[in-house]
Amino acid sequence: MTAQLIDGKAIAANLRQQIRQQVEERRQQGLRTPGLAVILVGTDPASQVYVSHKRKDCEEVGFISEAFDLPSETSQQALTDLIDRLNDDASIDGILLQLPLPAHLDASLLLERIRPDKDVDGFHPYNVGRLAQRIPLLRPCTPKGIMTLLHSTGQDLYGMNAVVVGASNIVGRPMAMELLLAGCTVTVTHRFTKDLAGHVGRADLVVVAAGKPGLVKGEWIKEGAIVIDVGINRQDDGKLVGDVVYETALPRAGWITPVPGGVGPMTRACLLENTLYAAQELHK
Ligand code: NAD
Repeated sequence: MTAQLIDGKAIAANLRQQIRQQVEERRQQGLRTPGLAVILVGTDPASQVYVSHKRKDCEEVGFISEAFDLPSETSQQALTDLIDRLNDDASIDGILLQLPLPAHLDASLLLERIRPDKDVDGFHPYNVGRLAQRIPLLRPCTPKGIMTLLHSTGQDLYGMNAVVVGASNIVGRPMAMELLLAGCTVTVTHRFTKDLAGHVGRADLVVVAAGKPGLVKGEWIKEGAIVIDVGINRQDDGKLVGDVVYETALPRAGWITPVPGGVGPMTRACLLENTLYAAQELHK
Protein backbone atom coordinates (compact mmCIF):
# COMPACT_ATOMS: atom_id res chain seq x y z
CA MET A 1 0.00 0.00 0.00
CA THR A 2 1.15 3.55 -0.63
CA ALA A 3 -0.43 6.58 0.99
CA GLN A 4 -2.40 9.06 -1.07
CA LEU A 5 -0.71 12.45 -1.14
CA ILE A 6 -2.60 15.40 0.30
CA ASP A 7 -1.58 18.09 -2.15
CA GLY A 8 -1.57 21.24 -0.03
CA LYS A 9 -0.04 23.25 -2.84
CA ALA A 10 -2.92 22.50 -5.21
CA ILE A 11 -5.63 22.91 -2.55
CA ALA A 12 -4.14 26.26 -1.52
CA ALA A 13 -3.93 27.43 -5.16
CA ASN A 14 -7.61 26.58 -5.57
CA LEU A 15 -8.47 28.51 -2.40
CA ARG A 16 -6.51 31.57 -3.60
CA GLN A 17 -8.38 31.40 -6.90
CA GLN A 18 -11.73 31.43 -5.04
CA ILE A 19 -10.58 34.35 -2.87
CA ARG A 20 -9.46 36.25 -5.95
CA GLN A 21 -12.92 35.76 -7.46
CA GLN A 22 -14.63 37.02 -4.31
CA VAL A 23 -12.37 40.09 -4.23
CA GLU A 24 -13.33 40.77 -7.85
CA GLU A 25 -17.05 40.37 -7.00
CA ARG A 26 -16.65 42.85 -4.15
CA ARG A 27 -15.03 45.29 -6.56
CA GLN A 28 -17.91 44.91 -9.02
CA GLN A 29 -20.37 45.60 -6.19
CA GLY A 30 -18.46 48.78 -5.35
CA LEU A 31 -17.19 47.34 -2.06
CA ARG A 32 -13.79 48.06 -0.54
CA THR A 33 -10.70 45.97 -1.43
CA PRO A 34 -9.57 43.95 1.62
CA GLY A 35 -6.34 45.26 3.17
CA LEU A 36 -3.63 43.37 5.07
CA ALA A 37 -0.81 45.08 6.98
CA VAL A 38 2.32 42.96 7.40
CA ILE A 39 4.83 44.06 10.06
CA LEU A 40 8.35 42.66 9.99
CA VAL A 41 10.87 43.67 12.65
CA GLY A 42 14.54 42.89 12.05
CA THR A 43 16.34 40.80 9.45
CA ASP A 44 15.66 37.15 10.35
CA PRO A 45 16.14 35.46 6.93
CA ALA A 46 13.32 32.89 7.39
CA SER A 47 10.89 35.64 8.46
CA GLN A 48 11.90 37.74 5.44
CA VAL A 49 11.06 34.82 3.15
CA TYR A 50 7.70 34.16 4.87
CA VAL A 51 6.74 37.84 4.72
CA SER A 52 7.66 38.18 1.04
CA HIS A 53 5.47 35.13 0.27
CA LYS A 54 2.56 36.64 2.17
CA ARG A 55 2.89 39.91 0.30
CA LYS A 56 3.05 38.08 -3.03
CA ASP A 57 -0.11 36.13 -2.07
CA CYS A 58 -1.90 39.43 -1.36
CA GLU A 59 -0.96 40.69 -4.79
CA GLU A 60 -2.19 37.48 -6.43
CA VAL A 61 -5.67 37.69 -4.90
CA GLY A 62 -5.95 41.47 -5.34
CA PHE A 63 -5.71 42.58 -1.69
CA ILE A 64 -4.10 45.84 -0.65
CA SER A 65 -0.91 44.90 1.15
CA GLU A 66 0.79 47.45 3.39
CA ALA A 67 4.39 46.59 4.26
CA PHE A 68 6.14 47.78 7.42
CA ASP A 69 9.78 46.66 7.48
CA LEU A 70 11.21 47.97 10.72
CA PRO A 71 14.76 47.88 12.09
CA SER A 72 15.69 45.33 14.83
CA GLU A 73 16.03 48.08 17.43
CA THR A 74 12.39 49.25 17.03
CA SER A 75 10.95 49.94 20.50
CA GLN A 76 7.89 48.33 22.11
CA GLN A 77 6.26 51.79 22.20
CA ALA A 78 6.83 52.42 18.48
CA LEU A 79 5.26 49.06 17.62
CA THR A 80 2.36 49.65 19.98
CA ASP A 81 1.74 53.02 18.31
CA LEU A 82 1.88 51.45 14.85
CA ILE A 83 -0.61 48.73 15.87
CA ASP A 84 -2.93 51.37 17.37
CA ARG A 85 -2.79 53.35 14.14
CA LEU A 86 -3.57 50.25 12.03
CA ASN A 87 -6.36 49.27 14.45
CA ASP A 88 -8.01 52.63 13.66
CA ASP A 89 -7.34 52.50 9.91
CA ALA A 90 -10.59 51.56 8.14
CA SER A 91 -8.75 50.41 5.00
CA ILE A 92 -6.96 47.65 6.98
CA ASP A 93 -8.84 44.40 7.71
CA GLY A 94 -5.95 42.35 9.04
CA ILE A 95 -2.74 43.04 10.94
CA LEU A 96 0.02 40.48 10.85
CA LEU A 97 2.98 40.79 13.19
CA GLN A 98 5.62 38.36 11.94
CA LEU A 99 7.12 36.23 14.74
CA PRO A 100 9.65 35.71 16.23
CA LEU A 101 10.38 39.25 17.37
CA PRO A 102 13.79 40.48 18.60
CA ALA A 103 14.36 39.53 22.27
CA HIS A 104 13.78 43.02 23.74
CA LEU A 105 10.15 43.04 22.52
CA ASP A 106 7.18 41.48 24.36
CA ALA A 107 5.31 39.56 21.65
CA SER A 108 2.34 38.63 23.89
CA LEU A 109 1.59 42.27 24.75
CA LEU A 110 1.83 43.29 21.10
CA LEU A 111 -0.37 40.44 19.85
CA GLU A 112 -2.97 41.39 22.46
CA ARG A 113 -2.80 44.99 21.27
CA ILE A 114 -4.09 43.96 17.81
CA ARG A 115 -7.86 44.41 17.69
CA PRO A 116 -9.39 40.89 17.79
CA ASP A 117 -11.42 41.60 14.62
CA LYS A 118 -8.15 42.38 12.79
CA ASP A 119 -6.21 39.45 14.31
CA VAL A 120 -6.07 37.44 11.07
CA ASP A 121 -3.36 35.14 12.47
CA GLY A 122 -5.88 34.10 15.14
CA PHE A 123 -3.34 34.38 17.99
CA HIS A 124 -5.21 36.89 20.19
CA PRO A 125 -6.52 35.33 23.45
CA TYR A 126 -10.02 36.45 22.40
CA ASN A 127 -9.88 34.37 19.21
CA VAL A 128 -8.20 31.41 20.95
CA GLY A 129 -10.89 31.61 23.64
CA ARG A 130 -13.67 31.68 21.03
CA LEU A 131 -12.24 28.50 19.49
CA ALA A 132 -12.02 26.87 22.94
CA GLN A 133 -15.69 27.73 23.50
CA ARG A 134 -16.74 26.26 20.14
CA ILE A 135 -17.69 29.64 18.63
CA PRO A 136 -14.61 30.32 16.46
CA LEU A 137 -14.29 33.69 14.78
CA LEU A 138 -10.79 34.26 13.35
CA ARG A 139 -9.16 30.82 13.63
CA PRO A 140 -5.40 30.26 13.89
CA CYS A 141 -4.16 29.76 10.32
CA THR A 142 -2.09 26.56 10.48
CA PRO A 143 -4.71 24.42 12.30
CA LYS A 144 -7.47 25.91 10.16
CA GLY A 145 -5.57 25.03 6.99
CA ILE A 146 -4.99 21.51 8.30
CA MET A 147 -8.73 21.06 8.87
CA THR A 148 -9.26 21.90 5.18
CA LEU A 149 -6.62 19.30 4.25
CA LEU A 150 -8.26 16.69 6.50
CA HIS A 151 -11.69 17.34 4.98
CA SER A 152 -10.16 16.99 1.49
CA THR A 153 -9.54 13.29 2.22
CA GLY A 154 -13.31 12.74 2.40
CA GLN A 155 -12.88 10.73 5.61
CA ASP A 156 -15.39 10.98 8.44
CA LEU A 157 -13.41 12.50 11.33
CA TYR A 158 -16.08 11.87 14.00
CA GLY A 159 -14.77 9.54 16.69
CA MET A 160 -11.30 9.20 15.20
CA ASN A 161 -8.38 8.86 17.61
CA ALA A 162 -6.37 11.98 16.84
CA VAL A 163 -2.88 12.52 18.23
CA VAL A 164 -1.20 15.93 18.11
CA VAL A 165 2.57 15.93 18.57
CA GLY A 166 3.59 19.34 19.95
CA ALA A 167 1.68 21.71 22.20
CA SER A 168 2.71 25.20 21.08
CA ASN A 169 0.34 28.18 21.16
CA ILE A 170 0.38 28.59 17.39
CA VAL A 171 0.02 24.97 16.23
CA GLY A 172 -0.41 22.14 18.76
CA ARG A 173 -2.92 23.67 21.19
CA PRO A 174 -5.31 25.27 18.68
CA MET A 175 -4.98 22.11 16.54
CA ALA A 176 -6.24 20.03 19.46
CA MET A 177 -9.23 22.36 19.85
CA GLU A 178 -10.05 22.18 16.13
CA LEU A 179 -9.93 18.37 16.21
CA LEU A 180 -12.11 18.27 19.32
CA LEU A 181 -14.60 20.54 17.57
CA ALA A 182 -14.54 18.13 14.62
CA GLY A 183 -15.55 15.23 16.87
CA CYS A 184 -12.19 13.49 17.32
CA THR A 185 -10.92 11.94 20.55
CA VAL A 186 -7.80 14.00 21.02
CA THR A 187 -4.48 13.28 22.71
CA VAL A 188 -1.88 16.05 22.89
CA THR A 189 1.75 14.98 23.29
CA HIS A 190 4.76 17.18 24.07
CA ARG A 191 8.40 17.05 25.09
CA PHE A 192 7.57 15.39 28.47
CA THR A 193 5.33 12.70 26.97
CA LYS A 194 6.29 9.12 27.77
CA ASP A 195 5.96 6.53 25.01
CA LEU A 196 5.37 8.83 22.05
CA ALA A 197 5.57 5.79 19.75
CA GLY A 198 2.67 4.12 21.62
CA HIS A 199 0.46 7.21 21.29
CA VAL A 200 1.23 7.65 17.59
CA GLY A 201 0.62 3.93 17.01
CA ARG A 202 -3.00 4.27 18.25
CA ALA A 203 -3.75 7.32 16.08
CA ASP A 204 -6.19 7.19 13.15
CA LEU A 205 -4.99 10.71 12.48
CA VAL A 206 -1.71 12.26 13.56
CA VAL A 207 -0.61 15.90 13.31
CA VAL A 208 3.09 16.40 13.99
CA ALA A 209 4.39 19.88 14.90
CA ALA A 210 7.52 19.54 17.02
CA GLY A 211 10.22 21.05 14.80
CA LYS A 212 12.35 17.89 15.16
CA PRO A 213 13.39 16.26 11.87
CA GLY A 214 12.61 12.54 11.77
CA LEU A 215 11.00 12.52 15.25
CA VAL A 216 8.10 10.31 14.13
CA LYS A 217 9.25 7.05 12.57
CA GLY A 218 7.31 5.50 9.74
CA GLU A 219 7.04 2.18 11.63
CA TRP A 220 5.05 3.93 14.40
CA ILE A 221 2.22 4.89 12.04
CA LYS A 222 -0.98 2.85 12.24
CA GLU A 223 -1.84 1.22 8.89
CA GLY A 224 -4.09 3.55 6.89
CA ALA A 225 -3.77 6.55 9.24
CA ILE A 226 -3.89 10.17 8.07
CA VAL A 227 -0.49 11.81 8.63
CA ILE A 228 -0.13 15.60 8.67
CA ASP A 229 3.46 16.80 8.93
CA VAL A 230 3.70 20.45 10.01
CA GLY A 231 7.45 20.48 10.67
CA ILE A 232 9.72 22.58 8.49
CA ASN A 233 13.40 21.76 9.06
CA ARG A 234 16.24 22.79 6.80
CA GLN A 235 18.99 20.18 6.49
CA ASP A 236 22.68 21.02 6.02
CA ASP A 237 22.32 20.32 2.28
CA GLY A 238 19.57 22.99 2.10
CA LYS A 239 16.75 20.45 1.66
CA LEU A 240 13.51 20.99 3.63
CA VAL A 241 12.22 18.02 5.61
CA GLY A 242 9.34 17.50 8.03
CA ASP A 243 9.14 15.89 11.47
CA VAL A 244 7.99 12.52 10.07
CA VAL A 245 10.30 10.06 8.30
CA TYR A 246 8.44 10.39 5.03
CA GLU A 247 9.91 7.41 3.13
CA THR A 248 8.94 4.84 5.78
CA ALA A 249 5.61 6.50 6.64
CA LEU A 250 4.51 6.47 2.99
CA PRO A 251 3.87 2.70 2.69
CA ARG A 252 1.92 2.58 5.99
CA ALA A 253 -0.20 5.76 5.97
CA GLY A 254 -3.53 6.08 4.17
CA TRP A 255 -2.95 9.78 3.44
CA ILE A 256 0.11 11.95 4.00
CA THR A 257 1.20 15.56 3.47
CA PRO A 258 4.56 16.18 1.78
CA VAL A 259 7.14 18.71 3.03
CA PRO A 260 7.34 21.10 1.30
CA GLY A 261 3.97 21.44 -0.46
CA GLY A 262 1.67 20.25 2.34
CA VAL A 263 0.75 22.39 5.32
CA GLY A 264 2.89 25.47 4.51
CA PRO A 265 0.91 26.73 1.48
CA MET A 266 -2.36 26.17 3.39
CA THR A 267 -1.24 28.34 6.32
CA ARG A 268 -0.64 31.18 3.88
CA ALA A 269 -3.96 30.63 2.09
CA CYS A 270 -5.81 30.67 5.42
CA LEU A 271 -4.32 34.04 6.24
CA LEU A 272 -5.96 35.34 3.07
CA GLU A 273 -9.21 33.56 3.94
CA ASN A 274 -9.24 35.18 7.38
CA THR A 275 -8.53 38.62 5.91
CA LEU A 276 -11.39 38.28 3.44
CA TYR A 277 -13.67 37.03 6.24
CA ALA A 278 -12.73 40.06 8.38
CA ALA A 279 -13.54 42.41 5.48
CA GLN A 280 -16.83 40.71 4.63
CA GLU A 281 -18.21 39.84 8.04
CA LEU A 282 -16.46 41.96 10.66
CA HIS A 283 -15.92 45.28 8.84
CA LYS A 284 -19.07 45.66 6.79
P1 NAD B 1 7.53 25.11 19.12
O1 NAD B 1 8.99 24.93 19.29
O2 NAD B 1 6.88 26.35 19.65
O3 NAD B 1 6.79 23.87 19.79
C1 NAD B 1 7.26 22.57 19.62
C2 NAD B 1 6.42 21.62 20.44
O4 NAD B 1 6.90 20.31 20.21
C3 NAD B 1 6.49 21.87 21.95
O5 NAD B 1 5.18 21.84 22.49
C4 NAD B 1 7.30 20.69 22.47
O6 NAD B 1 6.89 20.27 23.77
C5 NAD B 1 7.00 19.62 21.43
N1 NAD B 1 8.07 18.62 21.37
C6 NAD B 1 9.40 18.80 21.31
N2 NAD B 1 10.04 17.61 21.34
C7 NAD B 1 9.10 16.67 21.41
C8 NAD B 1 9.13 15.25 21.50
N3 NAD B 1 10.29 14.59 21.51
N4 NAD B 1 7.95 14.61 21.57
C9 NAD B 1 6.78 15.27 21.55
N5 NAD B 1 6.68 16.61 21.47
C10 NAD B 1 7.84 17.28 21.41
O7 NAD B 1 7.25 24.92 17.58
P2 NAD B 1 6.00 25.37 16.65
O8 NAD B 1 6.04 26.84 16.46
O9 NAD B 1 4.75 24.73 17.10
O10 NAD B 1 6.46 24.71 15.26
C11 NAD B 1 6.69 23.32 15.14
C12 NAD B 1 7.21 23.01 13.74
O11 NAD B 1 6.20 23.35 12.80
C13 NAD B 1 8.45 23.79 13.33
O12 NAD B 1 9.22 22.97 12.47
C14 NAD B 1 7.90 24.96 12.55
O13 NAD B 1 8.82 25.46 11.61
C15 NAD B 1 6.72 24.29 11.88
N6 NAD B 1 5.63 25.20 11.52
C16 NAD B 1 5.13 25.07 10.28
C17 NAD B 1 4.07 25.86 9.88
C18 NAD B 1 3.53 25.68 8.50
O14 NAD B 1 2.75 26.48 8.06
N7 NAD B 1 3.89 24.60 7.81
C19 NAD B 1 3.50 26.77 10.76
C20 NAD B 1 4.01 26.86 12.04
C21 NAD B 1 5.08 26.06 12.42
